[in-house]
Amino acid sequence: MVATDSIGVQTRGEGDVQDVTAAVQAIVSASGIRDGLLCVFVVGSTAAVGTIEFEPGLVTDMAEALERLLPRDAVYAHEERWKDDNGHSHLRATLLGPSLVVPVVEGKLTLGQWQQIVLLEQDTQPRERRLIVQISGED
Ligand code: ZN
Repeated sequence: MVATDSIGVQTRGEGDVQDVTAAVQAIVSASGIRDGLLCVFVVGSTAAVGTIEFEPGLVTDMAEALERLLPRDAVYAHEERWKDDNGHSHLRATLLGPSLVVPVVEGKLTLGQWQQIVLLEQDTQPRERRLIVQISGED
């Protein structure tokens, strides 16, 4: 059995990290699937999905780590070609990845106590994001 649903998220732009764990678990519970694999995928090439301990210190640390790795003010061919400002956003999103797989066991996400599912906005402006949640498994 396969169940597909989606979650809409309004972001505040670059560096915004939003906890979507409860919304994802609600989809698992509504699906009736007890055991299987869940995929969360963000539509768009300037956002990412992952897990983190969702607390303000790590949200700041993540933003600073990404700034060290792919600085906003560096020169990007994408920006020169398209006359925009988000070359670093695309690269950060690609490195973090657009999706996450979580095993579902007995109707629950197998996350750690301090491990939340998060949407990581990388674009320079607020965006309306859609997360696709698909679960394949048995009821
Ligand atoms: Zn761009």
